[in-house]
This record gives sequence, structure tokens and C-alpha cells, in this order.
Amino acid sequence: MRVLILAPVGRDSQLLADTVNALKIDTQIAAGPENLMALLGEGAGTAIVADEALSAAHMQSLAAWLSSQPPWSDMPFIVLTSAGRPTPESRRRAHELEMLGNFTLIERPVRPETVQSSVRSALRARSRQYEVRSRQEALLRANADLEQFAHSASHDLREPIRSIAVYTELLAKHYGHLLDPKGKEFLGFVQSGTQRMETLLADLLSYTQVSSIPDQIPEPIAARGPLDAALQNLAGAIRESGATITVDEMPAIRIRPSHLEQVFQNLVGNAIKYRKQEPLHVHLTARRQDSHWLFCVEDNGIGIAAEYRETVFGIFKRLHTSQAYSGTGMGLAICQRIVERYRGRIWVESELGRGSAFHFTIPG
Ligand code: ADP
Repeated sequence: MRVLILAPVGRDSQLLADTVNALKIDTQIAAGPENLMALLGEGAGTAIVADEALSAAHMQSLAAWLSSQPPWSDMPFIVLTSAGRPTPESRRRAHELEMLGNFTLIERPVRPETVQSSVRSALRARSRQYEVRSRQEALLRANADLEQFAHSASHDLREPIRSIAVYTELLAKHYGHLLDPKGKEFLGFVQSGTQRMETLLADLLSYTQVSSIPDQIPEPIAARGPLDAALQNLAGAIRESGATITVDEMPAIRIRPSHLEQVFQNLVGNAIKYRKQEPLHVHLTARRQDSHWLFCVEDNGIGIAAEYRETVFGIFKRLHTSQAYSGTGMGLAICQRIVERYRGRIWVESELGRGSAFHFTIPG
């Protein structure tokens, strides 16, 4: 947390360094603005800069340096301004500096106590920024570890479960006749449990496969393509339920087609699954809103009570038993992960017994 000093006139630099050193804080005097930029790149707690040392060109390179800094960083600068009544020029400069970032202006002649207290508060602010950075890094690491864990677990567990499934099937086929009704019933439980576990793992795996780290923003694609693919995949369920599906005009958006297909398939699939006795109607719309597209999948199904409108997006979160409605509780979690990966949002508006409207946004 050293303090950099750039004050090219006379003995200013040395005087400032002595004032700061008195606080037992390290200082380094920059030979010129270019040298200051190089020293900033090596890391610093704050920099004391004399106003006259910064030409317009230096201000520009300082602005470029500031904008290249990571989001947690807001380097504090202490600027010594000229004494006397402010001129229009000095006002403009002060304004420019304030717009540039975290600049504290001190008017000359400066008292050592003023410099010391400004340095102390700048260093306190800087050390809070470093703390935020290390907490963020720890969070990112923990998150990456968890993702890796979920991925390996869901991937590696599939093989032993597959062999349980295969061998219970063989057991039923070759030795089923030797079992009494109770034995047959127990074997049936093992088989349905295994099947459920396989589905859970497959869903968990597809959740982890939607990486949380966005790659390049894809080229725009017509949303109608992935929607039609999703409806095609659901054709059997649509036919059986007798659902009427209506679709408004769909825009072109920047998203991987397979991601959009997954979102539509989960939302329309849920609308079909959680329908009421009365004829089901699902309506899909898209409309432009500020800098994004707002999509809506609306149904007249069983609806969701207000207290569960956020819970339903959680991993493995379900409002029903798998006897009442099949499912793993991963569908909406996958939708949320996909939408958030594109910096969009997803939420539901619903009333119990009166249908649901799932909304999601995709910037574009
Ligand atoms: P799953 O359908 O496998 O249970 P989801 O994550 O897709 O998992 O949905 C979570 C829960 O949200 C469901 O169990 C259901 O209770 C509720 N839900 C989702 N979509 C609808 C809908 N269209 N209408 C009513 N309830 C819904």
C-alpha cells in the first residue's frame, strides 16, 4: 500500500514524501507522468499528484488506465490544485478530474495534517477495495469448485446407477418367478427408484452443462426456429392433452438456439403438465422493451401460490410429489441459469387456480 507522488516543481515531491513517511507509510516519487502510469500498473494505495503535472494527454492516458481497471478497483487520487481564486480553467479541470474517478482535490498551500488525513482515508478506502476483491475471488473459486463437484458427481454417478438398473432388470427377468408378491413389489421399488435417480442425474448434468461463464455473444437468430423445435419435441404431449398453442410474432435475438429451445421446451412442457381439467390454452408472446426482448409463456393451468413464485426456480424445488406430477424440479432452475447467462431475468406472475405467466428477458 505505497503512496505514489508526482509533483515535479522544486522540492514539492520530497516534502510530500517526508510528510507521508512520518506516518510510517512507504512512498515512491514518480520521475514524470509516464513513470507514474508505470508505477500505478505495479499497484499502489493512492497517488498524490500536483495539478500542473497532468497535461490533457496525460489526463487521457489516466482515463484509459482507469477504465481498464477491474470493477472492484476505484483507485483514490489526491490532487494538489493551485492556490487562489478558482479560474474558469481550474474549475473545468477540477470537474474533469471528478468525472474521471475517485479524486480528492486539496488546494495549495497544503498543511501537512491535511495531506496526512487525506492519505489515511484514501488508504482506508483502498484497503476496503482489496478486501472486496479477495472476497469476490474466494466466492468465484468456491462457485467454480461447486460447479465442478456437481458436474463430476452427476457424471460419475451415472455409471453405477446404470449397472443397478441393468442388473435389477436381469434379476426381474430371470429370477422374478422365484419371488413372492412382496419380493416382486420390493424389486419394483428398486426399479422405479433407480429410474428416478437416472432422471435426476441427467437433469443435474444438463444444469451444470449450461456454463455460468458467458462465452462470446452469438449472432442473432430467429426465435421462431428453436420454438418450433421445442413444440416438435412436445408434439406427443400437446396432442394427448388437446392443448391449443398460439404464438405471436417472434423476433431475432442473440442466443444459442439450443438454449432457447431448452427454455421454451421447459416452459411449454410445464404448462402442459400443470394443466387443469378444462381445455388448456398456452399463449406465447414477445415484445420489445427498452434494451431487451420480453418473452411470455402464459397458460390457464393450476397456477402457483404467491409464496412459491421464487422457490420454484430453485434446484430440485417442486410443489408436488412425483406421484401427482412427474418431474425432478430442475426445469425452471435450468431456464433461470440459461436466461441469466445472457444477462436476462426470469420470473412468474400467477395466482393459484388461475394460470401462470412465465416472463423472461433477453438483451438484444
Ligand atoms: P418439475 O416440473 O420437474 O417439477 P420445474 O423446475 O420445471 O420442475 O418446476 C418447479 C415447480 O414449479 C413444479 O414442480 C410446479 O409445482 C411449478 N410449476 C412450474 N411450471 C408451472 C406451471 N406452468 N403451472 C403451475 N405450476 C408450475
